[in-house]
Amino acid sequence: MNENEALKKVVILATGGTIAGQGAAGKTTGYKGGTLSIETIVDSAPGVEKLARIEAVQVCNTVSDSLTDKDWIHLANTINEMAPDPEIAGFVITHGTDTMDETAFFLNLVVKTEKPVVITGAMRPATATSADGPLNLYQAVLTAACPESVGKGVMVVFSDRIYGGRDVQKRSTYSVTALNQVEGGLLGVIRDEDIFYYYKSTRPHTVSSRFCVDGLEKLPKVGILYFHIDTDPALVSCMAELYEGLVIAGAGAGGTSRPVADEYKKLSIPRVIASRIACGPVTQHMASMSGSIAANNLPPQKAAVLLRLALTQTTDLEELKQIFAEY
Ligand code: ASP
Repeated sequence: MNENEALKKVVILATGGTIAGQGAAGKTTGYKGGTLSIETIVDSAPGVEKLARIEAVQVCNTVSDSLTDKDWIHLANTINEMAPDPEIAGFVITHGTDTMDETAFFLNLVVKTEKPVVITGAMRPATATSADGPLNLYQAVLTAACPESVGKGVMVVFSDRIYGGRDVQKRSTYSVTALNQVEGGLLGVIRDEDIFYYYKSTRPHTVSSRFCVDGLEKLPKVGILYFHIDTDPALVSCMAELYEGLVIAGAGAGGTSRPVADEYKKLSIPRVIASRIACGPVTQHMASMSGSIAANNLPPQKAAVLLRLALTQTTDLEELKQIFAEY
């Protein structure tokens, strides 16, 4: 057996984003995301070939704002089909950072393997001075190949840190530490080839999650209504025409004006109250006042992911409340 054959296999599923972006030499803005092939990206990350045998699959090459529920289902099915292969130690997904937190939560709920699934990307295009993609990719492959990463759910590796798929959020428009979380512990940190795990999530994920994508072709449509002073209450009924469920991004601990609340109380479709602050819980006590479901500490875009999956199984209000309390 040669040195290479002794290495574990890591499958990289590439979707595009800034990590695959190109622009004017040295510049960090004004580039085009989703242009470079995954082979070129892997070649730009020295040492990756010593961490694992890489199988690279170009799933698509786009900015993450353009991904759809069909792309999510395709990614989940691809992982679920490949995961039983004993040769494969884990998976890396390269992804734009804009919606990385949504994809991480979705996959965390529907991927049926204990093998590590690690999402990464970059805030600077490959052509920028100090591009962050190569190190992020290196650390993601390291994490996916690490036996200690098994059973931790879908993770995001970014800028030396390992985040859980449920709790990671994009928190900055420009910083190389944009992928972050507001409260709770980091799963771990990375220094060169050392991975130090510290915390794990108490919420169900992957093999212990009740959700799956078997037989699914699309997800129920859920809209997010962002509340601000003078939000037109007529928006509520307009959105109810378009969607099967609503998430209200309320102010503070989930508040809205009386006229907006009066409108969404009239709806028969499920609605979840989250907070536009995206930090701290909205309680069920508060949400029950309008016959709604509390997002707890899920930010609006993640509450929408959970509601879309929950609606594949039930529209019963009490069961939906239970799902949000548990996940
Ligand atoms: N617009 C890009 C995307 O999400 C941003 C990034 O990758 O950082 O695809």
